[in-house]
Amino acid sequence: MEISLKDQVAVITGASSGIGAGVAKSLASAGATVVVNYPFEGSMEQANSVLKEIIDAGGKGIIYQCDVSKEDQVVKMFQDIVSELGTVDILINNAGIQKDAKFTEMTIDQWNAVMGVNLTGQFLCAREAIKEFLRRGIDPSRSVACGKIIHISSVHEIIPWAGHANYASSKGAIRMLMQTLAQEYGADKIRVNSICPGAIQTPINTNAWNTDNALNSLLTLIPYNRIGQPEDIGNLAAFLASDLSDYITGSSIFIDGGMTTFESFSTGG
Ligand code: NAD
Repeated sequence: MEISLKDQVAVITGASSGIGAGVAKSLASAGATVVVNYPFEGSMEQANSVLKEIIDAGGKGIIYQCDVSKEDQVVKMFQDIVSELGTVDILINNAGIQKDAKFTEMTIDQWNAVMGVNLTGQFLCAREAIKEFLRRGIDPSRSVACGKIIHISSVHEIIPWAGHANYASSKGAIRMLMQTLAQEYGADKIRVNSICPGAIQTPINTNAWNTDNALNSLLTLIPYNRIGQPEDIGNLAAFLASDLSDYITGSSIFIDGGMTTFESFSTGG
């Protein structure tokens, strides 16, 4: 059995670092042509080095600058990709940020910034992707599905997170967005799922793993006793984007070393 995404075009938002970069490499190694999206001029160099790794390993792709929270930029990104690469088969809705604050001190700017990227960004990219899937229709030489969307959510779509009300609310909302799209477009053979990572070693959560104390404290939450790596998410994303998972839609798949078994209950409760 082999995962093949040959001749398919995959857009990965926020792919110049962390999970997005890991997913882009995995999808490219399964044969997809990847679009490594990055938000600002400042992240272009990183995006280029992700693409270089992909090309050096025999893969194919391009980089594309777009702030996913901006409607005009997202619409233009999908138009440009379709004219350059022909279509879009797979969307990995990955871009995300944190702006943490105690709830009573959370500013409207912190709330709106997180909602803008984590939720509105996923809405805009999913909308443009689905329009393109429907325009193209099913092409059995590429995939038995008309298109695949994978939302990168979080264990915090179900685990409340004090001090992070904006982030946890955005991820809870992604669950409903994902399930609604899976329901609305199932008959069109568009599959929509979420990947819900636990603790993955990336720049977004450096403070949780960059000292021995922090890492040991984090590991008390993870029965499998290791922090996750972007490659763990990439492996799952490649499977979920492929026809091997053709009967999976409307699902949140937790990939968290057992975090959602609530480790603190292992010694009582
Ligand atoms: P990261 O900070 O490395 O990645 C976030 C990416 O989003 C960056 O590449 C950044 O440039 C990009 N980005 C930010 N604003 C953007 C915008 N407006 N438009 C386009 N791209 C933008 O951290 P990560 O851990 O790789 O995070 C990726 C996703 O995984 C996020 O949605 C995050 O919530 C989710 N996640 C991460 C973890 C974890 O433990 N690392 C756990 C659960 C969920």
